[in-house]
Amino acid sequence: MKIKDLEFKKLITADKIEKKIKALATSINAEYKDKTPLFLPILNGSFMFASDLLKEVTIPCRISFVKVASYSGTNSTGQVNTLIGLEESLFNQDIIIIEDIIDTGLTLQKIVDELHGRGAKSVEVVALLRKAPAREKNIGAKYIGFELEDEFVLGYGLDYDGLGRNTKDIYKQTVS
Ligand code: 5GP
Repeated sequence: MKIKDLEFKKLITADKIEKKIKALATSINAEYKDKTPLFLPILNGSFMFASDLLKEVTIPCRISFVKVASYSGTNSTGQVNTLIGLEESLFNQDIIIIEDIIDTGLTLQKIVDELHGRGAKSVEVVALLRKAPAREKNIGAKYIGFELEDEFVLGYGLDYDGLGRNTKDIYKQTVS
């Protein structure tokens, strides 16, 4: 499959994704059975994963979609990531972030810190994909679908320059 200037080949089939999602939901249903978690899918990339995962979640829960906005700040890296779209109080909430992919883990770390700062009781992460750099740095995510090498992937919600989100399978860039 060609998208703009890049070639991609199938990496994870829809069938495998479906099975993995069922297993992730089974764990969440068991571990949160006495709680009413607030799921926070991070848009845009996690929209398909969140939709399929939440259909398999059978415990009572709330769902609120959020986005990460980056702006130039005054911290040492020059970039500040903050959550937008979050209206409800997080005080005493058990939060489960739904993320598409963890690469360096920097985005996630900032979100987790922000949620704790806003009074969340607990914050866990379910991520469909995790790359090697995040693994090496031990970026904590309780529920992980698939582990990847350091490769660029697309499909099933993930894009390349805005394109390619609308596929059932996940593709990886072929090295040319
Ligand atoms: P991190 O802060 O963990 O380095 O970056 C995470 C974000 O970068 C993800 O939510 C996603 O938007 C983007 N990203 C990281 N790796 C990939 C990839 O292989 N493909 C696509 N489409 N996005 C990626």
